[in-house]
Amino acid sequence: MSKIVVLGGGESGVGAALLAKSKGFDVFLSDQGTLKPAFKNTLSDNHIHFEEGQHTIDEILSADEIIISPGIPEKNEVVKKIKAKNISLISEIEFAVRYTSAKIIAITGSNGKTTTTLLTYHLLKEAGYRVGLAGNIGQSFAKQVLDNSHEYYVLEISSFQLDRCKSFSPDVAILLNITPDHLDRYEYKFENYIASKFRIFQNADLAKTCIFWEDDQVIQSNKQGIPSSNFSTISFKNNHSDAYIGDEKITLKTGEIDLASAPIKGPHNAINMSAAILAAQAVGISLDKIKELLPTFHNAPHRLEPCGLSKGVSFINDSKATNVDAVYYALNSFSHPIILIMGGIDKGNEYEVLDPLVKDKVKGIICLGKDNEKLLAHFSGICPAIFSTDNLQVAVQKGMEWGSDGDIVLLSPACASFDLFKNYEDRGDQFKHTVKQLTHGN
Ligand code: ADP
Repeated sequence: MSKIVVLGGGESGVGAALLAKSKGFDVFLSDQGTLKPAFKNTLSDNHIHFEEGQHTIDEILSADEIIISPGIPEKNEVVKKIKAKNISLISEIEFAVRYTSAKIIAITGSNGKTTTTLLTYHLLKEAGYRVGLAGNIGQSFAKQVLDNSHEYYVLEISSFQLDRCKSFSPDVAILLNITPDHLDRYEYKFENYIASKFRIFQNADLAKTCIFWEDDQVIQSNKQGIPSSNFSTISFKNNHSDAYIGDEKITLKTGEIDLASAPIKGPHNAINMSAAILAAQAVGISLDKIKELLPTFHNAPHRLEPCGLSKGVSFINDSKATNVDAVYYALNSFSHPIILIMGGIDKGNEYEVLDPLVKDKVKGIICLGKDNEKLLAHFSGICPAIFSTDNLQVAVQKGMEWGSDGDIVLLSPACASFDLFKNYEDRGDQFKHTVKQLTHGN
């Protein structure tokens, strides 16, 4: 019997172990950390041999193939030993795809993956397809392949998963954008990260659809590497592209989509919407049906999420904006005056790119963090009103005080949240709760 070793016992690892076991492999799961009790029970119930708190090298190196968690970097000692022995090392995605005949829509990019994945899934599901949602989101892909009979999967795919894909060949592949990210995992070489993202297209042939945002400079200069000629492009500049964004509408080959009534706002979301629409069309959903289904889409929380209205002032939670690029797009998404709440743990941010937008649109900045010095120093000369606090309630109150009819109070921090909150979700949830409390009855 061939032996499969699974490295990492999170959602995807446990799912892969279950699928491998059901296919008759001898399975061993190894995790350097501690496993969640529920996962341990699942593994025991299914008679899957596992260890935690260590990696037993001999046992691991006796595998015929190894499925590795995206969280384990290349420089890990165990990975080095596996590579030295030339054992096949694959991702959960690469493994699971062997056991399904479902059609796959796979989405990658530095930003916008979750939004685009959820919207694509929404369109397919509401159009009546039997469709699963997996990858970086929700339940393990492998587990769903084992339990369900979906005819389609919409997968959010990270570069780490792509690094461990060889024959993975999605029917529809989407590359949204490429900006430097996770470079610590790519020997600090941007070209390595770019190559990883382009793997989404590596096995594409003419039967596959390759969708990308063609205005992205990095994609533009590397697109000759896409093997298929079945491109579907998105652009703000090229009116011959398959989805041309301009004049408050997306123009497709088959008709137009009005952006004024779009369920998600801003130019970045017009790209995300275009990608999801082109994918839905590629699987055969008509434009009329897509138009009918778009208004019922609700994005995941913490991404430009409206969360209150008081005396004409709208409150928006964009807590997921943990880098400057995301704040740039957030500011571009509104035409009304903005009171911007930002701050937290700065990961070496360079704020200059925000300066023109702040001058143009922001009437006040409220710095919310334990250490606001860098923000205060940078924006004091640029924004007429600036205020510093480490208390969320005080920040929201200040926003209400400064806001007048038609204004927007936007939490879009550009920073990580760990100084005052557990994570970005906690920060967004507390913001929404505070807004609700303070605006109650208004
Ligand atoms: P991901 O899953 O890639 O992190 P999300 O959809 O969760 O992407 O969005 C993360 C952040 O990036 C949000 O603050 C959002 O407003 C911003 N964003 C979303 N789509 C794009 C895009 N196409 N380009 C740039 N920024 C985007």
